[in-house]
Order: sequence, then C-alpha cells, then structure tokens
Amino acid sequence: MEKQVIRGYSKIKTKSYKKSNKTLKTPKIITLNTKNIKHKMKIILLGSPGVGKGTYASFIKEKYKLPHISTGDLFREAMKNGTPLGKKAKEYIDRGDLVPDDLTVQILKERISKPDCENGFMLDGFPRTIPQAEALDKITKIELAINFFASEKIILQRLGGRRICKKCGAIFHLVNKKPKKEGVCDICGGELYQRSDEMPEIIKERLKTYHEKTKPLEDYYKKKGILRGIMVDADINAPNFKEAILDKIDEAIESVKK
Ligand code: ADP
Ligand code: ZN
Repeated sequence: MEKQVIRGYSKIKTKSYKKSNKTLKTPKIITLNTKNIKHKMKIILLGSPGVGKGTYASFIKEKYKLPHISTGDLFREAMKNGTPLGKKAKEYIDRGDLVPDDLTVQILKERISKPDCENGFMLDGFPRTIPQAEALDKITKIELAINFFASEKIILQRLGGRRICKKCGAIFHLVNKKPKKEGVCDICGGELYQRSDEMPEIIKERLKTYHEKTKPLEDYYKKKGILRGIMVDADINAPNFKEAILDKIDEAIESVKK
C-alpha cells in the first residue's frame, strides 16, 4: 500500500485564556529613570594627571550616587587632623613623591570598610601602582576600570593653564576659562596664582611618575577584561560635554554588567 502524503497547513492556534472572575487591577507603571538607578558597582577611575578625572568623578557621583573616594583627599584630611598616618604621609606628599604602598592601602582599606561603601564606590587616585592593585584585589572585587585619556598636547595645556584665586579659591584656566583681566579674579578681584605642583618642571615629574608607575595598571585591568577607555580630547566647555561623557560611562557600565 502506498503511503499517502498529505500536504497541508498546520494551523497556528491561538490559545484563549479563560476569563477570571477577578477584575483586573490597573497594571503598575514602571518608569525608567536612570537618575535613580543605583548601579551598585565598584569602579576605578584611571587617567593621567590633567585628564579631568575629578570632573568626571563628580558627574558619576551625582548620577549614580556612588561615594567618591580619592586617596589624595584622604591624605589631605589625615594631614589636617594631624593623625600619625597623616604625619608620615606628609613627608612624601610635600616632595611630590608617591606615599608608600602600605600606608596608602591602609588608609584606603579603612575608608572602604565604612557602611556607605557597602553597595559600591568609585576610586579616584587609587590604585596608582601594581602592588596597590594587587592589595585591592585581596580586599574586594572591582567590576570596572575606566581609563580616561587625551593627547599629550591637551594634557599639558590643561595642567599648565590652571590659575586659582588667592582670596576666594575660584578656579580659572588660561585656555578654557579665561579670567576677564589677566591675573585677576572675576569674582572677588583677588590675585590669581598657579599651584606649585602645576609648574612646568613639576608637571614633567608627575607625568613621568604616572608613566612609570601607574600606566602599567591599564594592562593589569585589560587582562581582567574590565578596562574600558574613554577619549576626552573634546573641549570641557563644549555644549553637551557632560551628557556625552555620561553616555560613554553608561556604555562602559553596561558592557561589564552581567
Ligand atoms: P594629583 O593632584 O596628582 O591627582 P592627588 O590629590 O590624587 O594628586 O594626591 C596628592 C598626593 O597624595 C600625591 O601626589 C601622592 O603623594 C599622594 N597619593 C594620593 N594617592 C596615592 C596613591 N594611590 N599612592 C601613593 N600616593 C598617593
Ligand atoms: Zn576670587
């Protein structure tokens, strides 16, 4: 007997759901407001002196509500309070040297064990050496390292052009935020000065230390697969600069989230 092949359609059935007796409640509306999303993340910010890390850190802090932890700030605080650690660190900081790794790891460890760091934090200025990165790995798991970079020309321009008011502390820049009258504060009329570690010779030293000691961290985090680079050659005063940076940071965060 020959087999008959029957060609036909298989109908796509639509399932009919039984209506329940309960009246449906209006579904809850969930709005996506990125400003309120707390990415509970542990982030490191890398980048040469003068790249504008502090500025980007303030954007991230505002948007993601992550505590901003700067070892430079921690040392300045410890020195102001005259703690034993502050006194030891002062010697090195005054010379423009890096503070030894053991002291730096100690101050950082104390800070990130505070309750506000439980759900994540952003580190600025730490780690600065490979041994510091290794010590950090023993304390906690970092999820993202953002490397801000710009051309050397831009870096030198940013670092060399900064002027600060002696009286009120306002910050100006010879290229990006020129005072109306040279050497004089727009706000209070005070005299403008250049930070001692932003003089050309010291800038050279700081960049040298950065290249020798800190730049190898890029490879360290690249190997872990968590390094993301953001190029920031654009003018900080350009319209939408902040939004553009935050978009890139969002992308970086998304790309490492599981
Ligand atoms: P910068 O203006 O160079 O970014 P910071 O404010 O980050 O400086 O730090 C000021 C000083 O504190 C540094 O020059 C260095 O002596 C010390 N310091 C800060 N962070 C570290 C670190 N991770 N390791 C060693 N020394 C550090
Ligand atoms: Zn002033």
